[in-house]
Amino acid sequence: MSNQADVRRPAPIVTEDSSAFWQAAAEGRLVAQQCAGCGRLRHPPRPMCPYCHSTEQTMVELAGTGVVYSYSILHHPQNPAFTYPVLAVLVELDEGVRILSNLVGTDPGAIAIGLPVEVRFEPTVDGMAVPVFVRREVGR
Ligand code: ZN
Repeated sequence: MSNQADVRRPAPIVTEDSSAFWQAAAEGRLVAQQCAGCGRLRHPPRPMCPYCHSTEQTMVELAGTGVVYSYSILHHPQNPAFTYPVLAVLVELDEGVRILSNLVGTDPGAIAIGLPVEVRFEPTVDGMAVPVFVRREVGR
């Protein structure tokens, strides 16, 4: 657990559509919108279902496990809030939605498409948190 004084990660930009997502993240829960019309999940949060155009939705909690769908290893430009290289990953969650995040605690040489990962939450300034991913051991 990091000391709040050591937290450098910037806080997320919260919009009307994303506030429920960030509130859940601050509580250590990964959620996604589920359309009340067709039942499909979607991420990032948005006001209307891209499949059936319903504006009714609920938030459902996700398992937080998935695999790396794609990635990029970032070296520049460097922001003092982060340790480089930053491993930017697009994670395909087990429920089928994809989320853009960071892979942490993993050697850049170990990153690969299909790598099993699971969510963790890193604190940000202003007392919020963002979902990040760590490598997941399979078969435990
Ligand atoms: Zn829908």
